[in-house]
Amino acid sequence: MFANTEELRILRDTVRRAARERIAPLAPSIDAAGEFNREVETLCWDLGLLTLIFPPEHGGAERDQGTALCLAVEEIARHCAASALLLIIQAVGSFPILHGGRPEVLQRLLPRMVENRELAAYLVTEPSAGSDVGALRTTAVRDGNEFVLTGTKCFATNGGVASVYSCLARTSAAEGRDGLSFFLVERDRPGLKVGKVEKKLGQRGSNTTEVILDEVRVPAANLLGQEGKGFLLAMKDFDMSRPAIGAQALGIAEGALAEMVQYAKQRKTFGKALCEHQMIQQILADGATLIEASRGLVYRAARLFDDGQRNTKLASMAKVFASDAAMKITTDAVQVFGGYGYMQEYPVERMFRDAKLTQIFEGANQIQRLVIAREILKETT
Ligand SMILES: Cc1cc2nc3c(=O)[nH]c(=O)nc-3n(C[C@H](O)[C@H](O)[C@H](O)COP(=O)(O)OP(=O)(O)OC[C@H]3O[C@@H](n4cnc5c(N)ncnc54)[C@H](O)[C@@H]3O)c2cc1C
Repeated sequence: MFANTEELRILRDTVRRAARERIAPLAPSIDAAGEFNREVETLCWDLGLLTLIFPPEHGGAERDQGTALCLAVEEIARHCAASALLLIIQAVGSFPILHGGRPEVLQRLLPRMVENRELAAYLVTEPSAGSDVGALRTTAVRDGNEFVLTGTKCFATNGGVASVYSCLARTSAAEGRDGLSFFLVERDRPGLKVGKVEKKLGQRGSNTTEVILDEVRVPAANLLGQEGKGFLLAMKDFDMSRPAIGAQALGIAEGALAEMVQYAKQRKTFGKALCEHQMIQQILADGATLIEASRGLVYRAARLFDDGQRNTKLASMAKVFASDAAMKITTDAVQVFGGYGYMQEYPVERMFRDAKLTQIFEGANQIQRLVIAREILKETT
């Protein structure tokens, strides 16, 4: 229903097949190794999934880019959430460049990124600034035709494998969200160092690192968007990325429900299959209902984005609802599997760990609720 054009249907079916045949078999070992997987990355480049939101002449979808991203993410996340995150962060890290980059910078950078298959990362969070973006301390000081960036970024997905970073830094002494600006920072700039690689609970195949900027000089032309308007650019990025996180959560939940249904049909207790017990049926019914509702929100938010309409409220609703649903459904899946659900031998244990992150990143769910409330209050003034 949501893949409502021929292009979107082809994309969904192609990714569905590739995810089932090529990514699903790798998912347990990707999780066990806790390392970024180059085979999956290559597959995603081959399928054009890492440039979906680029301009069409640089490999982007001709239209419906937000929906295309969600469909691809959902299909991959059914089998391997960490692999789906690669698509999301490539889009999130590229967005400030694509929407704020000077034409001469884009002309140089985009063909190179596509040709060399370069990954992007998004450097916003700092040790003392997560939800409270306005507390960030990284500075960018103008020096002639350059800016000099100094600070420490943490929890950067793709931090250690990206070639280009969208980095938010303070360009004026103004407090809070005012005076923040995005910069394109290339990996090979002197003074840029990848720090600690995080060991994580879930989505362990994604690369999460510190990135340290020690007086990193970038040309003034690397300023993305207007000076002092970086926070607004970050918000626009969220309108694209939050439905995509919702799609990731949706995919994880679908994967867990499929495992649950299959297991409940096979496992017998008290002389009948688990799925014949009404309390188990309730779990299955509630999970399937939450999934349908998540799907509606995710693709409605993506559709508004694609149509150029304001989707901030729907994007947050999609993210918060789908991620809370995924956490509930994966928790229920472990319960339906009983003791076996607690063992690494079965995939629901991994899905349960992977789901948790969807409630935390791209704006923790408490923050999403603040956004939704703020939007509702604005509508009624
Ligand atoms: C695996 C992983 C990957 C990530 N990738 C990236 C990335 O690529 N780039 C990047 O920039 N960041 C990234 N992040 C950072 C992520 O976006 C932040 O962790 C998240 O925004 C929360 O910030 P925090 O961890 O500092 O928590 P805090 O801001 O300290 O919040 C702690 C808790 O308090 C709650 N809280 C905070 N303020 C309020 C409030 N006003 N009212 C009610 N509750 C509140 C939060 O919801 C949260 O539950 C990643 C994080 C993880 C874990």
